[in-house]
Amino acid sequence: MEYNKINYGGKIKFHRLDKKPIKQIWLFKWLIHILSLIVMKPKTKIEKIGMDGIKAPYVLLSNHHAFADFEVNSLATYPARVSNIATLEGHYRRAWLLGLCGCVPKRKFTTDPYLLKQCEIILNEHKSVLSIYPEARYSPIGTTAIIPDSYGALLKRLQKPVVVLLHRGNYLRNPAWGWRRSRKVKTLSTMKLILTERDLAKKSPEEIMEILRRELTYNEYEYQKEHNIIIDAPYRAEGLHHVLYKCPHCLKEEMTSKGEKLICPACQKEWELTPLGEIKALNGETEFNSPPEWFEWERKMVKDEIVNQGYFFESSVDVYSLPNTNKFIPLGKATLTHKEKSGFTISGRYNNEDFIISRPVAGMYGVHIEFDYCYIRPEPCIQISTSNDTFVCFPEKKNVVMKLLFATEELYKIEQAERAERRRARKEAKEINE
Ligand SMILES: [Zn+2]
Repeated sequence: MEYNKINYGGKIKFHRLDKKPIKQIWLFKWLIHILSLIVMKPKTKIEKIGMDGIKAPYVLLSNHHAFADFEVNSLATYPARVSNIATLEGHYRRAWLLGLCGCVPKRKFTTDPYLLKQCEIILNEHKSVLSIYPEARYSPIGTTAIIPDSYGALLKRLQKPVVVLLHRGNYLRNPAWGWRRSRKVKTLSTMKLILTERDLAKKSPEEIMEILRRELTYNEYEYQKEHNIIIDAPYRAEGLHHVLYKCPHCLKEEMTSKGEKLICPACQKEWELTPLGEIKALNGETEFNSPPEWFEWERKMVKDEIVNQGYFFESSVDVYSLPNTNKFIPLGKATLTHKEKSGFTISGRYNNEDFIISRPVAGMYGVHIEFDYCYIRPEPCIQISTSNDTFVCFPEKKNVVMKLLFATEELYKIEQAERAERRRARKEAKEINE
């Protein structure tokens, strides 16, 4: 049996990721702009810092909260042409249309040998804005996600001005865990030139990364407090348990939510998400004042579990694959496991043949999760991609996808630290021998 291969019986055409990007068609540029003006202009403010005289081509890096980010990006970059590096599933049943809009599809959290060339074409041939969301997914709790170190070298190589567009408020309005019902929130996006071509030539990839991480730092709940944004929608906490899945009182991972409340059914403790975005226990002590504090505590608990107890996850899952943008193919039931070193494994059987999909820890700094998936069914899922296919898994176990994301990130960090330690030891041994 060959790993990472499904027996489709020769009937499937895989989506090609090596295609040359299309220069954004003016008609689509206008249509997107007009649509963004209607939808986003009344709700958002865009401020610009150091942008005088900055014209395309440049690299635009944005944080990612919700679909509205694309609309604000269109307003902020007008009148330049823009090409977005976007997830392949976003091209589902409309690949031709997004292609004409200049979008370049990618499979998330995989190594893509065509990306650099495509970025160069967008900047140097099309003279367009190259728009990338380095966090690669919507923020689960309104704070910055891991940004891979490789961006330092990529930006240095591209040699074009780097602009950051930092959105604030889009998460508060449409959080990934409750995106179907909007909250009333005025948003603010700041567009800032952070690196000129001269800066890129002088600075090392590490220095570039330091600037990038600093400029892409945000916390939506701090923004809410600073701007006194009151969110009194009666459904404001509904879905938050997908992210805050672990009870800080009894440590069970069975949290649920209703209206403005988070509830632990195991110990009956309840918390309110206040209109100002704070956490307040309704009985007993308030363990954390804000959702990001609770979130980071969960991350620490997962890390402790990996280090002290040995981490292992297994669940039966329903799997759907997306070899191209036409159709999600149901592959039936399979077993998803996640553990140290070997990372993710999906084992199942399709078309009378067993399959094993494997993504070791070393290649994955993150993983894509959804809490309410719009394309297949409105439930939490985890997506594991290989270089030519994507597998959407709906776990039978509940309240698990956020923990899987924490474990992916923490396992990767540990693996990277071990690798650095091995490099250091080898270098030391070599020096002693010399
Ligand atoms: Zn509890």
